[in-house]
Amino acid sequence: MSEEEKFDCIVVGAGPAGLSAALTLVKAGVEVAVLERGEYPGSKNVMGGILFTPVLDKLLPEFWKSAPVERFVTHRRYSVLSKEGEAAFDFKTAAYGEPDYNNSWTVLRAKFDRWFADQVEEAGAMIIPGMMVSELLVKDGRVTGVKTEPGGDELNCDVVICCEGANSFLAEQVGLRKPHDPKHLAVAVKEVIGLPQDEIESRFHLNGNEGCAYEIFGQAVQGTFGSGFLYTNKESISIGVGSTIHDMKRHELNPNDVLEGFKKHPAIAPLVKGGESLEYAAHMIPEGGYSHMPKLTMSGLILTGDAAGFVNASHYHEGSNLAMASGVHAAETVIAAKEKGDFSEATLSGYRDKLENSFVFKDLKKFQKFSGFLNDNPHLLRDYPDSIIGLLTDYFRISEKPKAQIEKDVIAKFRREIGIINFAKDMYKMWRATR
Ligand SMILES: Cc1cc2nc3c(=O)[nH]c(=O)nc-3n(C[C@H](O)[C@H](O)[C@H](O)COP(=O)(O)OP(=O)(O)OC[C@H]3O[C@@H](n4cnc5c(N)ncnc54)[C@H](O)[C@@H]3O)c2cc1C
Repeated sequence: MSEEEKFDCIVVGAGPAGLSAALTLVKAGVEVAVLERGEYPGSKNVMGGILFTPVLDKLLPEFWKSAPVERFVTHRRYSVLSKEGEAAFDFKTAAYGEPDYNNSWTVLRAKFDRWFADQVEEAGAMIIPGMMVSELLVKDGRVTGVKTEPGGDELNCDVVICCEGANSFLAEQVGLRKPHDPKHLAVAVKEVIGLPQDEIESRFHLNGNEGCAYEIFGQAVQGTFGSGFLYTNKESISIGVGSTIHDMKRHELNPNDVLEGFKKHPAIAPLVKGGESLEYAAHMIPEGGYSHMPKLTMSGLILTGDAAGFVNASHYHEGSNLAMASGVHAAETVIAAKEKGDFSEATLSGYRDKLENSFVFKDLKKFQKFSGFLNDNPHLLRDYPDSIIGLLTDYFRISEKPKAQIEKDVIAKFRREIGIINFAKDMYKMWRATR
């Protein structure tokens, strides 16, 4: 390909960020090629997962009428596990069972991404699966295209939108990002377990196409800085665990063993019992948030989604919506740059301004201290679940002991094991970490 024969824009990666960027570009008449290393879009993608869809619903209104989504999430549950017990906060509302379905859908990415890519291709983008970008081409400090494998071909363009996900080695190659700090990079493993539809609906108390999302802390991940998850699909359950690489190493844990232990926990085993293992995958999650964000642009290049570290790793556990929103903002920036005929860093830095005004930065900023706070206070996820469940076990134990004595004993144990001042301090610090 000569310098004259070039794409307006090359998008690296056909995940939520890349496909949202490409759709926005083609709608505006920008010529775009999406290069995806997987055999097909979605083939390499792993997510719990709930696809959060406020941006998708704008790009493809009422997508759920034709998209291969699994269930809309009406039921959220947060819990902590000790070795034997579980204490939970459980929330369910039929209000999420109507359009827009609270923008929360369980999906299987291999099916969903493929469908999304078909819509983007129909709109006019060129999607090339089985092509990995091995290198960004850089001339005089400006990204001018990509080198691809297999074959080592070079493709030129005015601008690259890099949506390569968590293992963002292209961003590293051009110096926008340093190697990940293992304290801020989680490794997650996920299994899809097949069960009959009626069995899922009865085990999880679901009506029709309702779905549920469980986020589980404490013993789910053996007290490390992370969590377990369980989401219902139509005829399967997605179950997994994820913790920072730093903590997994520190505790000499292997994520596969942690997942096996999680599935055997007395609170979880009945939910997966008798299921057939259909799929198993591992993936990274960049959890550094706003304070560990890479540089987002240089001349001819924009980073989006996981490649830019846009994951809200608080209790919300959102990444898909931040990926789609950043893909759209990157595309809008490219459209404006094309109108100006200027793809310099100064012009592309408009991307950052768009993010500042969107929920992407507002949410990342809100939780920017959260991951550091949990890293600095490992006892919260390691010791509190055991103590709290131990206290509840004593509180609800039936015997001939008078209730007044039980209360006194439980309070004394609470003072001994946690301490009122320590507890108040921890809660205050936690509150501060989300301000
Ligand atoms: C176990 C797990 C559970 C999760 N659960 C949730 C959840 O419930 N809800 C949620 O919102 N988020 C969840 N996330 C996070 C979410 O998956 C990501 O934030 C989201 O997928 C990011 O989208 P993306 O497009 O930036 O990257 P990705 O989805 O990772 O897509 C990147 C794409 O780029 C391709 N690619 C990579 N390198 C190259 C290359 N060099 N050349 C060509 N192609 C390349 C990949 O094959 C892939 O298709 C979870 C993540 C994990 C690992």
